[in-house]
Amino acid sequence: MVDLDTIVSLCKRRGFIFQSSEIYGGTGSCWDYGPLGVELKSNIKRVWWRDSVQLRPDMVGLDASILMHPTVWKASGHLDHFTDPMVDCKACHRRFRADKLDEGEWVHYCPATKGNKFMVPDGEPCKHCSARRTLCPSCGKGNLTEARQFNLMFKTFMGPVEDDAAVTYLRPETAQGIFVNFDNVLQSMRLKLPFGVAQIGKAFRNEITPGNFTFRTREFEQMEIEYFVMPGTDEEWHQQWIDERFAWYQKYGIRKENIRLREHAKDELAFYAKRCVDIEYLFPMGWSELEGIANRTDYDLKRHSEFSGKALEYFDEESKQKVIPYVIEPSGGVDRSALAFLVDAYHQEEVRGEKRVVLRLHPELAPIKIAVLPLLKKNSRIVETARRICADLRKHWVSVYDDTASIGRLYRRQDEIGTPFCVTVDVQTVGDADAPGDEKVTIRERDSMEQVRVSVSTLRETIAQLMAGNWAEVATQLPHPEMGEG
Ligand SMILES: [Zn+2]
Ligand SMILES: [Zn+2]
Repeated sequence: MVDLDTIVSLCKRRGFIFQSSEIYGGTGSCWDYGPLGVELKSNIKRVWWRDSVQLRPDMVGLDASILMHPTVWKASGHLDHFTDPMVDCKACHRRFRADKLDEGEWVHYCPATKGNKFMVPDGEPCKHCSARRTLCPSCGKGNLTEARQFNLMFKTFMGPVEDDAAVTYLRPETAQGIFVNFDNVLQSMRLKLPFGVAQIGKAFRNEITPGNFTFRTREFEQMEIEYFVMPGTDEEWHQQWIDERFAWYQKYGIRKENIRLREHAKDELAFYAKRCVDIEYLFPMGWSELEGIANRTDYDLKRHSEFSGKALEYFDEESKQKVIPYVIEPSGGVDRSALAFLVDAYHQEEVRGEKRVVLRLHPELAPIKIAVLPLLKKNSRIVETARRICADLRKHWVSVYDDTASIGRLYRRQDEIGTPFCVTVDVQTVGDADAPGDEKVTIRERDSMEQVRVSVSTLRETIAQLMAGNWAEVATQLPHPEMGEG
């Protein structure tokens, strides 16, 4: 498995992800998606939306605002319970999670060795004096305060007055926007149970220990579904969503040995949740959550009914009774998905004695679908033809033209960013003084490095077939050129 530093460095070098505000020294745990990252991320969101909303008659979408009525967070329980126990160092004023204090090495000025400074590994005693950590793990000098509960919501003020009446929060999850709009969606769309509402949007959590690149950040994007069902059918629906979401990641390229389900233990469940299952991915730092799928029962609708005084119910025509639906919540992270897809796609191999880095991204996720490359950049007919072909392909797919290096180098550059197809225009395509061109170009596939030669007039059609994932099928029917420089 590739290490995280390799991914971080590729992301920066090739324009996927940059440190936020880097020229000012960076902002802790905030990341900016560069030109390729934004394409990757929007492709992930697009396929998720297509599979979750467009292709399903039982799903609709929503885009709720980030700032909501403060009572939402009272009703949801976030104001009272969305907290971590924290301690502060009285000397360096760093803050730590009380329950994670002994995870990670600690700084120790050892009295047995004239006060020399040591780093002692995770929670172990000092091997010189056997002392255990009592002081700040970071500076090794300060005493720690008693633990206090620290709310993870970002607090801010609405309007020009910064007083208690104006306090509001950046949403810590998108889900509540769906619950408070339950009746609006139900009535305006005339929906019947079971139905779901999907939403993609930013959420904010003031994590004390963010880290592992884009895995845990304070600002992140969620892809959430609240799927409302008749009470009593909830367990079955829950299982269906678990299976569906588990298959989804594999459909877009996550290898099955790198993904697993993890059932939450009873003592791990939120008090209102009946069951929760995480989809975990084998990230470079170990198995970690990619998506959580919870059965939240009727807790949220009940709470918002109670706090708002508005009934959030569904009238069941069959039994002529009002019911409060149960809700199944598949909640995934866009940033985590992007990271998982990148890590899973990363391959390093040797081709004819040289190192080749290739991102085997699913064609639908690849930031750039096609690169059009002229074999000789000094031949104006080749260059013109290549530019014309690229302009035509751009109407359908994200395509680039590149003539800034030799063909071998250009292929490697595209491999490294996951471009599934390169189209090469050569002398044979355009002809020369002695012979007319054949009006054909070479398509080279990223993973196999195989090439086929197709007519420019059918290029678009062939690429459309190839995008559908049929390289082997389509390629066998087309003539292979002399193997050029892979
Ligand atoms: Zn300290
Ligand atoms: Zn010691």
